[in-house]
Amino acid sequence: MKGVSILGATGSIGRSALAVLDQHPDRFRAVALTAGTRGEALGRLAERYGPALAVVAEGPVPAGACGGTEWRTGREALLAAATHPDADVVLNALVGAAGLEPTLAALRAGKRVALANKESLVCAGPLVMEAAREGGGELVPVDSEHSAILQCLAGTSADAVRRLVLTASGGPFREWTAAMLATATPADALRHPTWDMGSKVTIDSATLANKALEVIEAHFLFGIPYERIEAVVHPQSIIHSMVEMVDGSVLAQMGFPTMELPVLYALSYPERLPYECRRFDPVAAGALTFEPVDGERFPAFGLGVAAGREGGTAPAVFNAANEVAVAHFLGGALGFPGIAEAVGDTLGQWRGGAADSLAAVLEADAWARRTTETFVRNYLPCC
Ligand code: NDP
Ligand code: MG
Repeated sequence: MKGVSILGATGSIGRSALAVLDQHPDRFRAVALTAGTRGEALGRLAERYGPALAVVAEGPVPAGACGGTEWRTGREALLAAATHPDADVVLNALVGAAGLEPTLAALRAGKRVALANKESLVCAGPLVMEAAREGGGELVPVDSEHSAILQCLAGTSADAVRRLVLTASGGPFREWTAAMLATATPADALRHPTWDMGSKVTIDSATLANKALEVIEAHFLFGIPYERIEAVVHPQSIIHSMVEMVDGSVLAQMGFPTMELPVLYALSYPERLPYECRRFDPVAAGALTFEPVDGERFPAFGLGVAAGREGGTAPAVFNAANEVAVAHFLGGALGFPGIAEAVGDTLGQWRGGAADSLAAVLEADAWARRTTETFVRNYLPCC
């Protein structure tokens, strides 16, 4: 029986994780569950799963919370959930840079971190990998592309890999012209064709910033240089990613899109457990097609990959600027093309720096947020 701490239990990945626990009550039990602000929703989950600890990181404890669960609030409490003594696995399903410190704390405490929060690795890849080495913790990806790559690698060394090919659905605007993109609303962008996800990652999928975040995530997770990581649009989201070996063989991992399987694999890895879900049917899946990423219509992709290649704190700046710009797009202050414009403007002003301490990363993150806020305040759409 493994104890699982679920950071972000009330979110989309959190729901997938609890569905996995439902199918394996004899293998996994929830020891800590956390929410950001939605204490009432967490209260219902606590009643059902009976964790030892429930944390509302940014809001009050819901009225009537009782039972055998200890209730806490605040950032320190979130770190307590990330390092809970009964947790063997910490599923980090927080959204944004807020996930970084819990990832570091869990790895330093020697936990397995099932990582959905890709932003942790993007903001501070070297620090995260160092925390895992020093604390004896282990990082297992939940992101479907990285779970696919892990499964394709199956223990193969990095020397045997020629290339990683990350697939991207292309998002809801895959076929939109630049002129149409200028009129895209949050409602349009939130209508994802193949995945049902939280709002931030859904907008990142629409801009393709998500794929850039994933290229950076793959670079750190698998130790593969950027020039050997590519992205390709695959609208059906059946092939979750591919690995080309040095001999030319290409391995792909496939299935109908669901996040429950990558979560299950991150919890059970390297073991495989039986699971009830929609069985794959190649005939029903139909034709599988591929297209190049269009960097002109989706400039956030190129900006993110360039920030990854630059290294140091540039990826943290990319991430923070993107978080602020996405929030303003959702709030109506920025048009869709304004997201990439804001991110590009902020990156253009960044003078660089090493990501050699948490303080340096947090400073770059805070600078990027201020700079992007200023851009948004002065924003006039160019067309
Ligand atoms: P959601 O927005 O659905 O859920 C986020 C969770 O984190 C919620 O429980 C939320 O609490 C909590 N939370 C949000 N902000 C904070 C904060 N500042 N401090 C503490 N808790 C917070 O996101 P997703 O589940 O979609 O995504 C989670 C992560 O997984 C992201 O990094 C995303 O990129 C990644 N991912 C998601 C996929 C998906 O299919 N959804 C696929 C692959 C990766 P509350 O409910 O109270 O707001
Ligand atoms: Mg993904």
